[in-house]
Amino acid sequence: MTKRLSDLQVKDLQHVWHPCSQMKDYESFPPIVIKKGEGVWLYDEHGNRYLDAVSSWWVNLFGHANPRISQALSEQAFTLEHAIFANFTHEPAVKLAEKLVELTPDDLNKVFFADNGSSAIEVALKMSFQYHMQSGKQTKKRFLALTDAYHGETLGALSVGGVDLYNEVYQPLLLDTVRAKGPDCFRCPFNEHPESCHAPCISYVEEELVAHHEELTAVIIEPLIQAAAGMKMYPPIYIKRLRESCTKYDVHLIADEVAVGFGRTGTLFACEQAGISPDFMCLSKGLTGGYLPLSAVLTTDKVYEAFYDDYGTMKAFLHSHSYTGNTLACRVALEVLKIFEEEQYIEIIQSKGERMRMLATEAFSAMPYVGEYRQIGFVGAIELVANRERKEPLRSEERIGYQIYKRALAKGLLIRPLGNILYFMPPYIISDAEMQFMIRITKETIEEFFAEREG
Ligand SMILES: *Cc1c(COP(=O)(O)O)cnc(C)c1O
Repeated sequence: MTKRLSDLQVKDLQHVWHPCSQMKDYESFPPIVIKKGEGVWLYDEHGNRYLDAVSSWWVNLFGHANPRISQALSEQAFTLEHAIFANFTHEPAVKLAEKLVELTPDDLNKVFFADNGSSAIEVALKMSFQYHMQSGKQTKKRFLALTDAYHGETLGALSVGGVDLYNEVYQPLLLDTVRAKGPDCFRCPFNEHPESCHAPCISYVEEELVAHHEELTAVIIEPLIQAAAGMKMYPPIYIKRLRESCTKYDVHLIADEVAVGFGRTGTLFACEQAGISPDFMCLSKGLTGGYLPLSAVLTTDKVYEAFYDDYGTMKAFLHSHSYTGNTLACRVALEVLKIFEEEQYIEIIQSKGERMRMLATEAFSAMPYVGEYRQIGFVGAIELVANRERKEPLRSEERIGYQIYKRALAKGLLIRPLGNILYFMPPYIISDAEMQFMIRITKETIEEFFAEREG
C-alpha cells in the first residue's frame, strides 16, 4: 500500500502504541482511522466500511452506536457518572448485581466489580487463595490451568495463561502454575468425537489433581472455547467432569467466561450447558455490549462468609480499583441485560447461529487447506492446514492468517487471525444479508490467497 497517510494516521504513528501489534508492521499497514459505527459496520475516514465480524474483540453484542444503549448511557451521564464504591453504592450497581445473581448458576450469590477481564481474573485468583489461607488450608498456594489457556495479560492472569506467544518472555516473573494438558478435539489423542465423547482427556487434569490437590487452591478454565488458543472448542461433558473432580479434591473451580459469556456459545453462560455452578465466574467483554470497560466476579456465599468477620481479624478482601462499580458502565450493562430479556436474544442467537453454521459449513467444509470449520453458538472458526488428511499445520512463519486478514479488510470485512485460524463472532444484530457477505468474502479471500500462493 502506497497511499498517502492522513493527518490522524501520521500523528497516531508518532504517539500511539497499539495493543497486540508489532508496531513496525504499521509502516506498511497503517492503522485504519474509524470515524463512526452503525450496526455491524465500522466506517473509516474515507467513507469505506468494514463489517465488524469479530465484534471488536468479543465486546459488541447489539451493534455499534446502538440507540437504546447510547440513550441509557447519556441519561446516566447527566445524573451520576461515578462515585467512590467503598461505603457508597448506587442503583445501577445494585440492580446489576441483583440481575447477574439471578441469571448466573445457582450457587453464585455475591458480585465483586472490577474494570476489565484481566482484573476479574486477578480478583478470582486472589479470593480463592485468601479463602484457603483463612480456612486453615495454608498449603493451598498454587493454581492449575490448562495448556493453551488464555486469561488476560496482567502478571497473575499471564501466570495461568498457557499461550507461549504471550507469556514466554515474562516467565521469570510468573507464578509456579501446575499445568495440565487441555482438550484438543481437532487432534483428539483418544480419537473421540465431540458429539459422543465422555471427555477421557479429563484424565490429564485428574492426574495433576491426584498429585497436587493439597497444594492447589483453584483450577481455572475457559468453558467450551479456549479462545486465544485458536478457538479450540470442546464439549460440556468436560466441564461437568471437571466440576466433579474439583469438588472431590476440594479445589475451587474458576470459570473464566470473560469471552464466552453473554450468549456467545448459544446460552447466556457457557457453564449452563454443563449444568454446573463454578466457585467463581469471571465476566467482562460482552457485559456492557462493547460500550465501557467493566467486569464482575461472582462467587458463593461460602467464599464470602470466609471473609466476613470483625475488622481486627484482618480477613477482609482489601482489593480495589479506582473505577470499581463505575456507574455509567453498570447502567449500560443493565440495559444490555434488558435487551437480552425483552427481545429474547438467546432464541435469536440460536436460530441465527444455526443459519451461520449452515452457510459456513457449505462454504468452507470442502475447501482445500481447510482442516475444519467448527462452531459453537455464535463463534465460528476455520482452521487452515497444509494437508487436510493429515491435519498438518501450516508454517507459522508464513503468517497466512494475518495475510488473509489484511486482504479481507481491503474487501470490507474485519475477521481476525490467530496463527492459521480465522474466526468470526459477529454482533447478534447481524442481518442475513450481512452474514452472507461475511461468509462469501471470507471464502473468496481464502481462495484468492492460496491461488496466488501456488502461483
Ligand atoms: C479477553 C480475555 C481476558 C482478558 O480480558 P481483558 O479485558 O482483555 O483484560 C480474560 N479471559 C479470557 C478468556 C479472555 O478472552
